[in-house]
Amino acid sequence: MSEPQDLEAMTLRLFNTLTGQLDALEPADGKALGMYACGPTVYDYGHIGNFRTFLQIDILRRFLRLSGVAVRHVMNITDVDDKIIRNSVEAGIPIGEYTRQYIEAFFEDLDALRVERPEQIARATEHIPQMVALIEKLAAAGAAYKVEDGSWYFKLAAFPAYGKLSKKDLSGMEDGARVDVDEYEKDSARDFALWKAPKPNETFWDAAIGPGRPGWHIECSAMAMEYLGESFDLHCGGEDLMFPHHENEIAQSETATHKQFARHWMHVRFLLVDGRKMSKSEGNFYTLRDLLLKGYKASAIRLALISVPYRRPLNFTFDSLTDATNAIDRLRTFQARLNAGRFLAGENPVLQEAAKSARAGYFAALANDLNTADALASIFELVRAANTAIDDEQLFTADREAILPVLEDFDAVFDVLEDRDAEPTRRALQWAEQSGRMNEVAPELIAAQSLSDTAIEALVAERTAAKKARNFARADAIRAELAEKGVILEDSKDGVRWKRK
Ligand code: AMP
Ligand code: ZN
Repeated sequence: MSEPQDLEAMTLRLFNTLTGQLDALEPADGKALGMYACGPTVYDYGHIGNFRTFLQIDILRRFLRLSGVAVRHVMNITDVDDKIIRNSVEAGIPIGEYTRQYIEAFFEDLDALRVERPEQIARATEHIPQMVALIEKLAAAGAAYKVEDGSWYFKLAAFPAYGKLSKKDLSGMEDGARVDVDEYEKDSARDFALWKAPKPNETFWDAAIGPGRPGWHIECSAMAMEYLGESFDLHCGGEDLMFPHHENEIAQSETATHKQFARHWMHVRFLLVDGRKMSKSEGNFYTLRDLLLKGYKASAIRLALISVPYRRPLNFTFDSLTDATNAIDRLRTFQARLNAGRFLAGENPVLQEAAKSARAGYFAALANDLNTADALASIFELVRAANTAIDDEQLFTADREAILPVLEDFDAVFDVLEDRDAEPTRRALQWAEQSGRMNEVAPELIAAQSLSDTAIEALVAERTAAKKARNFARADAIRAELAEKGVILEDSKDGVRWKRK
């Protein structure tokens, strides 16, 4: 059995799309791992698919920290693109005003899900000069050209290694064929827009290369290199970004610098709903807010979205949310039992071993391409063994001391043990009220919110007093009233605990 210090120094082996294998992930400078993650395009509220990706990146950064690796994580915000321009023109407001509400909502949602903030957030509209400079560099190298309307394109023929990330066969590539939309799914590669000349009513910037606005791909290249240098450790995003977005980032950056852009590429598989692609027209499209208003807790949503390892597709179902709710309940109850229980001095060698092997299994699972499912299984094995031992009065003080740090390591990455669920739900309700969405709120949630914590505590105290006075009818009536409003009581020898369902 390895000692704890060995575990903490364990190197993460992460699948690298570029090499097609698990590679050790370590900072090249020996100090901090430079990582760039493609952030949201802020034209709407984030959906659970987006958050799956941001949550898996959160798992990555938290595990790196737990294993002693400092990170410098940069995330962009795409606050200018085709959709944003179209929607803000329709709404008749400037793009900055249009995107502000969604940027705020995005950070609120990240907080609800306990996704840590990157060290650096970079907004596209605040880095236009860097993008223009990169386009000028490409033009000077003969890899960018300007067309009649004043737009600039990247010349794919200038980068023969195009396709090395997605491993697409681009042999039928047509020289000079162009595409000017930011997103496209065609298998055949095209010269893509770096800088788009303004159409009537469109936002644009004046630049030496002519008036216009940046294409989506150049944004990420320019901002990644601004904060992480021409070569850096890791680039992450959802699997849909591999082609063309990430191929295009590589092509532009490596053509301009003649250096390798990112050394390691991580792609998170898509979230599906009931086995199908999530889409508004299919009626299976959920934002985080939709789920909070249905009465699911933020912690359960977090756990449901992280417990399937990132390289497997995640099939989201409401049953998976219920399972996550129950799993968190078991973990929190177990932790409370350990903290509040009175145990005899001594130790149980079987539990000492169980704690050690759970910790080793947990670290090994995460170090193996962030296998969150196996990591969870290790923790639950320990919970089962310890619960049985408590029931049999075979758990002693030294066992508690051995198990609590394992829960701490678990929570450094999973972050679901402390009950902070009331606040995100309260905020979602407030938002529903302000935006005329109260019809989307589950009735039990409205009932539960009608009782404040203080009111619940007063009722709990009244019930305890009623029981003491042997007024069981009143005590039962209070329990029933609380249950109706979604408050569950748990009697134990250490008193009454209550929680919202
Ligand atoms: P977007 O705001 O569309 O640019 O997407 C933000 C992030 O969410 C990107 O990394 C996307 O790849 C990712 N993403 C979008 N849809 C899904 C999905 N269904 N499952 C997982 N990740 C997704
Ligand atoms: Zn990007």
